[in-house]
Amino acid sequence: MKMYDVTGAIFEGMTVYKNKPEKQPKFIRVRNGYVTESRIELDVHTGTHIDAPLHMVTDGVTFETISLDNLVGTCKVLDLTGVEDRITKADLERFEIEKRDFVLFKTKNSFEDTFTYDFIFLAQDGAEYLSQLGVRGIGIDALGIERSQTGHPTHKILFENEVVIIEGLRLKEVEQGEYFMVAAPLKLMGTDASPTRVLLFEGLI
Ligand SMILES: [Zn+2]
Repeated sequence: MKMYDVTGAIFEGMTVYKNKPEKQPKFIRVRNGYVTESRIELDVHTGTHIDAPLHMVTDGVTFETISLDNLVGTCKVLDLTGVEDRITKADLERFEIEKRDFVLFKTKNSFEDTFTYDFIFLAQDGAEYLSQLGVRGIGIDALGIERSQTGHPTHKILFENEVVIIEGLRLKEVEQGEYFMVAAPLKLMGTDASPTRVLLFEGLI
């Protein structure tokens, strides 16, 4: 059995969305003699994380409504490294995607360590297609699942259809195929997202 940690590391100076300084994590190290207890100041969308509907829907449900049943189980890594600009329905139709699948998109983003303003994202028609298929979740190797789409249709379509969204995966080392996934977010209550450790296991299914 082989394990892949596809989580981005969290540290001061890490890559954050649009390089916004206010999105940088802060680690405050508090010392009392030989005792150290650090505090962290963290945007819930830092690094690898899962979004909750509240993120894009006024009065949307909060993070604790996302069931672990959807986050632990098989997943399919799709090689989309040849895709330019955005992932469309036509790009996804080439794969065998079934109801209840959890699909992870490996794109060119996984090979970039700095923030890229023209990152590859999921187009509206791709989100509609996957929602109609009834997937249980989608993961992408960018800090956003969409960009430059007025009104954020990709997020909204996925939330309306209760499709889980993982952002900020790191998939450079992972080949296309089926894996057993454990996506374990912090058990946050009332938030619009949570940082998440994501592990993929090869040879368990
Ligand atoms: Zn997010």
